[in-house]
Amino acid sequence: MNTSSYDGSMNAECLTVVVAAYNEATNIPLLHPRIIAVLDTLQDLETRVLYVDDGSSDATWELLSGLVAAAPRVGAIRLSRNFGKEIAITAALDNVRDGAVVLLDADGQDPPELIPQFVAQWRAGYDNVFGTRVLREGEGWFKRAAAASFYRVIGRLSHTPIPADTGDFRLLSPRALLALRQLRERHRFMKGLFGWVGFRQVALPYRRAPRLSGRSKFTVWRLWNFALDGITSFSTAPLRAATYLGLATALFAFVFGLWVVIKAALMGDPVAGWPTMMAVILFLGGVQLIALGMIGEYLGRLYDESKQRPLYLVDTHLGAAGVFSGHQSSDGAGHANGTATIGAQEG
Ligand code: UDP
Ligand code: MG
Repeated sequence: MNTSSYDGSMNAECLTVVVAAYNEATNIPLLHPRIIAVLDTLQDLETRVLYVDDGSSDATWELLSGLVAAAPRVGAIRLSRNFGKEIAITAALDNVRDGAVVLLDADGQDPPELIPQFVAQWRAGYDNVFGTRVLREGEGWFKRAAAASFYRVIGRLSHTPIPADTGDFRLLSPRALLALRQLRERHRFMKGLFGWVGFRQVALPYRRAPRLSGRSKFTVWRLWNFALDGITSFSTAPLRAATYLGLATALFAFVFGLWVVIKAALMGDPVAGWPTMMAVILFLGGVQLIALGMIGEYLGRLYDESKQRPLYLVDTHLGAAGVFSGHQSSDGAGHANGTATIGAQEG
């Protein structure tokens, strides 16, 4: 575990396990020994673990500090508040110094025991080895059905390949990691970003276990917003749909108008068509509002993007030398253009 001879070049023989945790104090003590046990079997790799505390309000940070103090290869970052999983993962990836990474959930749903299989595929030349869920234990039929239809919709709409039933549980090769770090968008749909990077990909089927303890942080409402982010980040098809909807309505209105005029000319117009009128007005009003709303979804995201805020702020870095990149910035932009900002508190 000697990292003092580090020369700044990418070292392909490193592997960092990255874990985002939000109020996972009950799960980390169970998960951490499993990760360490697996990493110890990977003799030919220099292995590290990097935790990100996504603004937890329970004892997660105290626990992580303890783990860092006990083992030199463990590092931890605490974000200034809860930023959400996608951003927490981003913060972790920005701070990995070199080598490949494996992303893991803190709740034990992604079994660390599979890491050697991920590494084997990496060794076989793959850059993006992703776990595909063949079984989702402990998840209700609603969540499963919603997930299935979401993957179908986004598969149709997006030009970026996004594999179905695939979460963030995956291994990224050093070059895939570097590529991913260059994507600095604010609304981060990580599954899509992984797909956008491309390179050689392979799926690794696994059984997704139930949570060790606690409840999922992703409520139905949060998942719905997540799905909207996914679709708007990777497709402009809804905007085009609004155009076609407008065209179709206009065509229908034209034919209908023609019919009204002809009818009035031939048979006269004894009674004003109040019900038809109302129906047309309400229908058109609805169509217009839907189209406006769609534009608004994109415009709002454009607005967020234009503010150019950092993606996250780091409260504390904890960890031994060798875990962190040493040139992380709070928005990570330094990785894309080589200008580093905030220094790390290593050691
Ligand atoms: N998580 C996070 N920030 C959040 C919400 C969740 O870092 O705001 C982490 C959480 O601690 C866990 C992972 O993301 O390690 C997945 O969360 P969860 O198990 O709640 O989601 P699910 O597995 O149900 O999709
Ligand atoms: Mg979970």
